[in-house]
Amino acid sequence: MRVAMLVAPRSIELREVPMPEPPAGGALVAVRVALTDGTDLKAYRRGHPQMPFPTPFGHEFSGEILALGSGVSDWRVGEAIACVHSAPCGACFWCAAGEEELCESVMERKILGAYADAIVVPPHILRRNAFRKPDALTFAEAAFLEPLSCVVHSRDLLGLRRRSSLAVFGDGGFGLLHALLLARDGHESVLVGRRAERLQLAASLGLATIDASTEDVSAALRERSGGRGVDAIVECTGTPEIWELAPSLVRRGGVVSFFGGLPADARVSFAASRLHYDEVRLVSPFHFTPRAVASAFGLLRDRAFDCARLISHRYPLDRIVDAFAQLDAGVGLKVAIEA
Ligand SMILES: [Zn+2]
Ligand SMILES: [Zn+2]
Repeated sequence: MRVAMLVAPRSIELREVPMPEPPAGGALVAVRVALTDGTDLKAYRRGHPQMPFPTPFGHEFSGEILALGSGVSDWRVGEAIACVHSAPCGACFWCAAGEEELCESVMERKILGAYADAIVVPPHILRRNAFRKPDALTFAEAAFLEPLSCVVHSRDLLGLRRRSSLAVFGDGGFGLLHALLLARDGHESVLVGRRAERLQLAASLGLATIDASTEDVSAALRERSGGRGVDAIVECTGTPEIWELAPSLVRRGGVVSFFGGLPADARVSFAASRLHYDEVRLVSPFHFTPRAVASAFGLLRDRAFDCARLISHRYPLDRIVDAFAQLDAGVGLKVAIEA
């Protein structure tokens, strides 16, 4: 089978490798669609500390069961599967505390290598974070399970108890998914971005938008909230400037969620008075829990919104080099790689 290996920054090789055997309790899945996301692009551009070269990559996928390991009785060969690339251990301190996104082995035991003809889904993932794909859901839609699980976990951490006004900063895939989910929850959500084509896409999906390249964002948000500042801000740009700006834009008692990660050595600062005297709450969602995955699957199954619209391009696996060259040049949103 073919597997795309990242061998150096900006260098992908499509290699021929033997078809793996499914482990006991696990499955071998023929990948039908694998999506690109920001983490894949970052790894492509400059490598990733947890992914030493050469490394398989790609982690948002859906497919069909090719073979099952011994002891699996609840799946059949040929069934369509939607799953994520990780699952918590269920036994560590954090799992016992219900904070499974922080499970001590969830990152170590995640799977990479969805840009391939097939991928092994190990038992811990097959048991906890895998679902039968309904026929009505396309493979491309089902591949949104992982990014949407991150967004559901992030939404839950905001802890919004009533209809709220909020702004999502960032017009990438995660910004759009947040804005769609929060609008669907009944909040007054506005997407703040800089790229005309992304803002057009957002508007065509029914979202309110602010163009940060031409509008005064602070003034626009004050105006949307009776001068108080919005109830919540979700930071999806992953830039220190917006991290530092966001706490100044919410109302007293508001909440800021730092979804977009910064480099490990980054430092940011805020006015402490906003946190203390104004009770501004800061949260920083990481990864997701099985609860979030189940609820993301429910959203996809119920077609809560049209996430397939976020797919800007489709490429066959043997053109993955072109797909990433194009993303690297700043063209495209989410790309579907089809094996
Ligand atoms: Zn654990
Ligand atoms: Zn992802």
